[in-house]
Amino acid sequence: NRTFFVGGNWKCNGTRESIKKLVEELNFATIEKDCEVVVAPPYLYISQVRKTLKDEIQVAAQNSWYNKGGAFTGEISPDMLKDVGVKWVIQGHSERRSIIGESDSMIAKKSQYCLSQGLGVMACIGESLAERDANKTTEVCFNQLSGYLAEVKDWKNVVVAYEPVWAIGTGKVATPQQAQDVHLAIRGWLSDKLSPEIAAATRIIYGGSANASNCHELAKMPDIDGFLVGGAALKGPDFATICGACT
Ligand code: 13P
Repeated sequence: NRTFFVGGNWKCNGTRESIKKLVEELNFATIEKDCEVVVAPPYLYISQVRKTLKDEIQVAAQNSWYNKGGAFTGEISPDMLKDVGVKWVIQGHSERRSIIGESDSMIAKKSQYCLSQGLGVMACIGESLAERDANKTTEVCFNQLSGYLAEVKDWKNVVVAYEPVWAIGTGKVATPQQAQDVHLAIRGWLSDKLSPEIAAATRIIYGGSANASNCHELAKMPDIDGFLVGGAALKGPDFATICGACT
């Protein structure tokens, strides 16, 4: 009985105008009661979205600083995010790992500080194509999870987002069975390292070319508890369909 969770990661996309339209579409959509829905606009538009989006949909940030504010040019502290109504933060996205060069320890510190401030964390993990081909999928995922575990002790407000890098933005979605296999392995890891209770309660969501057509088959799998959506989250009706996959 884990509440289905769908996050929309808008990445570095949008203008005031396009975001106004997307918010209107989301406000118009029916959000199922048994689905927790979160959207993550670029920092700059968070306030606009929070002021105009209906309350049933929560707002997330795509990143954060790992401590309170101060002399950290260009950074945004979790305290500021809370101040403007943010409830969740995406951490460890593969784009931040591979393009920005964030390390496991930096990601873990950011996650732990957000959690200590009462923010939820979508903790991303996932293997590259080369790693999958080398049969290293679970090894890579477990290593990334161990990175979080080094700092994060309380997993109550953590949602694990499994996002195979080869599926992100490629249109090449994992099959329901491929995703289920990894989600089950992740749950096993949580059970071993934390407890069976935490493993049973933690939402594990799938990301990587999830869309309005493939979401239903994926959502049927027992260990897939929702989605982290990129491209399809920029279209209100498609995103609403994905949220509706909880039923
Ligand atoms: P796409 O849905 O565009 O593949 O992106 C997934 C993602 O990276 C969500 O964080």
